[in-house]
Amino acid sequence: EEETIFALSSGGGGASVGGGATAVAVIRMSGPCAFNALRELLSPSPNGLSGGGKLPKLPKARMASLRTLYDPLTNNDSERRDPLDSALILTFPGPNSFTGEDIVELHCHGSRAVVNGVLSALTHLNSVPIPAISDEESQQARRRRLSLRPADPGEFTQRAYAHGKLGLVEVEALSDLIVADTSLQRKQALKQFDGRLSRLYMGWREELIKGLAHAEAVIDFGDDEALDPDEEDDGDMDGDGGMSIWGGISPRITSLRQAMERHLADASRGELLRDGLRIAIVGRPNAGKSSLLNLLAGRDAAIVSSTPGTTRDVVEVILDLGGVRCTLLDTAGVREEKEEGVNEIEVEGMKRARIAAKDAHIVVGVVDSTDYERGLEAVDELINGDGDFDDWKKDNILYVVNKVDLKNEMKDNDCLSKSNSFGISCTTSEGVNDFLSVLTTEALSLVSSDNDEASSAALSSLEGSEGAVITRARHRRHVEAAADALGRFEVLSGQGYMALDMAAEELRLAASELGRITGAIDVEDVLDVLFADFCIGK
Ligand code: GDP
Ligand code: ZN
Repeated sequence: EEETIFALSSGGGGASVGGGATAVAVIRMSGPCAFNALRELLSPSPNGLSGGGKLPKLPKARMASLRTLYDPLTNNDSERRDPLDSALILTFPGPNSFTGEDIVELHCHGSRAVVNGVLSALTHLNSVPIPAISDEESQQARRRRLSLRPADPGEFTQRAYAHGKLGLVEVEALSDLIVADTSLQRKQALKQFDGRLSRLYMGWREELIKGLAHAEAVIDFGDDEALDPDEEDDGDMDGDGGMSIWGGISPRITSLRQAMERHLADASRGELLRDGLRIAIVGRPNAGKSSLLNLLAGRDAAIVSSTPGTTRDVVEVILDLGGVRCTLLDTAGVREEKEEGVNEIEVEGMKRARIAAKDAHIVVGVVDSTDYERGLEAVDELINGDGDFDDWKKDNILYVVNKVDLKNEMKDNDCLSKSNSFGISCTTSEGVNDFLSVLTTEALSLVSSDNDEASSAALSSLEGSEGAVITRARHRRHVEAAADALGRFEVLSGQGYMALDMAAEELRLAASELGRITGAIDVEDVLDVLFADFCIGK
């Protein structure tokens, strides 16, 4: 027997969380007692509905209705309960609801007093003393009808999943949608939510299961006396024996594997967009790294100071660059360790700057125009000094020559001869917009491919799966494992009857890897991790 849950589903916090008030607060209930609880709240009689009070009518399903909610916890002897709020009420009878259960939504006024009142009424509904009920049996029956508890984080979505309303990939998409910071993150999550990614994987899985069915038929047939395996095995010597067993299956599996590999070879764009890019700002102390970060962030997020070595730890700011979520990292200045005044703390800061740059998707090297040579050297030393710095990133560094306001001849001297370099001034904002637009283009290029349409068309001819991109490492792992299994199948399927079972096993393995993505098998662990990410009321 499913319990009935309730939660404040809108933002703003409400009373128990201590957040500020919002104009409207949505309180949601789901489960078998939801409609009873609503009737109770609509009942002005202190006897409630279960005490024989007049039965309040529920609004029509899925139609908003403005009603007065009464407080069942009213503590007086009057004939009527105190009003709690005037609220818009919506009912969604199961199974055609988000969770598949009866759902009630109360759109209340967002004040703490109202939200608190409604939440506490729902919590205590089953223990409200009803004057008209004296015998224990009726009391118990009433408790059963009106038993609600606060929802756990993600529990509404969990129920939607449990009742087959959402697939696992869609739940993941919903979780992404709820936390999306930027427009592109939202678009990607919505694309995944509409099911195109699961359609792609389910389509592939069906193909594999068809292949398996064929294999099983051949295996059964092979066990049959009617077939002489020895004779067929000889045929393998000329190399086409495998073909004769697997027939049309082999080429289809090959093209399936190729489709998976194209799907995988996406430079992790979907995952980058989902998780966001990291942009590290590096350079000598005092070059203006923190000033640049503050300028881009539009607020004083980093500590700017003229004492070298102030930024010792890494400061982060989240930016929305053209719809891409970017974490901008201000790092400690880097300079020669033997330089005067460098202490242990600064050395540690430089170590962290190096790590930040190494982990970043884009590196911005800031160079003081009045100290150009040393500045450039410091950035290049940071990048090249460490053997395991990615080569592609070395070519992708954006050089910012700062403080051009201090050096008039800057514009035509060789400071800006380096490709990817931009003269700016954090003081006058000169050149900052140009730099920002290049940074945005760079960020966009990392998360989108030039020929998105073309590549997704080539990806699969499966209907309704255009633009399906991998958004999670979990999906990637399973697709990789599936493609590997198919690679082994291709080898084994060329070996005729000897390897028939083994080849079939690889198909089974590939199908089950794809099944794990969509939740067809083995989902418990994934669910635990996933629903823990949701907040209460979702
Ligand atoms: P960081 O050590 O690289 O983070 O450098 P800061 O951002 O702390 O800046 C060091 C000093 O340079 C501060 O006094 C800033 O006010 C100054 N500064 C930063 N950008 C400019 C600029 O474009 N022009 C001028 N004249 N001074 C700047
Ligand atoms: Zn700084």
